[in-house]
Amino acid sequence: MRVLLLYPLFPKSFWSFEKTLALVDCKALMPPLGLITVAAILPQEWEFKLVDHNVQEITESDWDWAELVIISGMIVQKNDMLAQIAEAKNRGKLVAVGGPYATTSPQEVETADFLVLDEGEITLPMFIAAIERGDRSGVFRSAEKPAVTETPIPRYDLLDLTAYDNMSVQFSRGCPFQCEFCDIIVLYGRKPRTKTPEQLLAELQCIYDLGWRGAVFMVDDNFIGNKRNVKLLLKELKVWMAEKGYPFGLTTEASVDLAQDDELMKLMVECNFKKVFLGIETPDKDSLALTSKFQNTRDPLTESIDKITTAGMQVMAGFIIGFDGEKSQAGDRIVEFVEQTNIPLAMFSMLQALPSTALWDRLEKEGRLLNSAANINQTTLMNFVPTRDIEDIATEYVNAFWQLYDPAAYLERIFRYYMKLGEAKNVVSKRPSWKTIRALSLILWKQGVIAQTRLLFWRNLIQVLLKKRRQLEIYLTLCAYLEHFTEYRFIVREQINTQLANYIASKPEAEKVAS
Ligand code: SF4
Repeated sequence: MRVLLLYPLFPKSFWSFEKTLALVDCKALMPPLGLITVAAILPQEWEFKLVDHNVQEITESDWDWAELVIISGMIVQKNDMLAQIAEAKNRGKLVAVGGPYATTSPQEVETADFLVLDEGEITLPMFIAAIERGDRSGVFRSAEKPAVTETPIPRYDLLDLTAYDNMSVQFSRGCPFQCEFCDIIVLYGRKPRTKTPEQLLAELQCIYDLGWRGAVFMVDDNFIGNKRNVKLLLKELKVWMAEKGYPFGLTTEASVDLAQDDELMKLMVECNFKKVFLGIETPDKDSLALTSKFQNTRDPLTESIDKITTAGMQVMAGFIIGFDGEKSQAGDRIVEFVEQTNIPLAMFSMLQALPSTALWDRLEKEGRLLNSAANINQTTLMNFVPTRDIEDIATEYVNAFWQLYDPAAYLERIFRYYMKLGEAKNVVSKRPSWKTIRALSLILWKQGVIAQTRLLFWRNLIQVLLKKRRQLEIYLTLCAYLEHFTEYRFIVREQINTQLANYIASKPEAEKVAS
């Protein structure tokens, strides 16, 4: 069987970083880990070709070659995913779909022949049996959450490693918390399931042997969901990293309670974890309680962020506006919080109800859903009726985004943050590669010569060189992100304002007068 694995396009988003990736000559931030895991579970006598549409076009010879097309993606990729399903069907190919979007919205991908939903460790064997029987369609589901201890090493060999800025690995699935808006707990459950340390080290060894060096994203839903098992991993990983001379800088996602565990933070820093993404959501305690994010209400959030930062890990954080019962000026409070904590990368969106989540079910019961098909990124208006005026929320959102990524404000914030960031334990001096030299030259040219904020850039850079040059690469990477945000804040403003204008125009006349 000749299988074409297709990964749909991402739209421009907070995380797409096109301009920043161009500086380091990469085409996408991360590879499609799900699809290469699928390839590892399918019969190895089958032939595989991977086309990541974010990296390359799908050629006529790719289509001609394929007997079966497998497409997987997230809800944010839905437009291209639906387009590629249609294209493959038009060409008479057998099409199978899976992944988070298909699993939570199967009714939207019914044009595919096979829907291989939920977790592949269980449903892919059902699909394989159907193919071997000669079936031409089928839907495979399972409520059971598989142990991931048997999951094979993903087929990293199918990737063009040069196209990506980060490699990705996964240690666990699931999260013990219960945030109302979250689809992770719907997809992967509330009991975190981990691989064994040996498994994860074998995956790292695999990408090491393929020649990968640099950033590795541990794409767990909540890396510290099972603290006992994660500490067992870290104790072994620490030894492996030291033996190899710290070939990877690690990033992951974790819950804020990481700050309560000094041993865990120390182990992570020793293993060369450099960045951690935290779902802060909002500094408003009432909103956090309402959305059942109680873990963020236990300790002052600013203290938690400071603890993780001074331990030596750079905090990235997610923020949301538009919770029920939210008081006005929520956008300003988020900006104030980000300025106070100096978080460099603050991902900010309006609340969206994702299918199958507790939030979706509640809003459906209350008759407040606006679209039966959800979409989600930082440029979409809310898909439900909020408890305060949507025009106020959208305006606060655009203004806050605009302020957060004002070039001067951003440069000042990252400078303050960098000076506070704890020293990394394992800085190994290596001769810079040609790629690094090229990226550095471009940053200096764009930020230090062309940008209007060039004086501020040089003033801060000189301070960094004088006072804290050991982790200079981290500081310059943060500067490079500005290439993306300078453009992206215009996209956010334009797209939200356009949707808002359409929304206002579609309101009945009486409502327009009242508002
Ligand atoms: S902590 Fe994160 S992953 Fe866990 S339930 Fe909340 S939003 Fe989802």
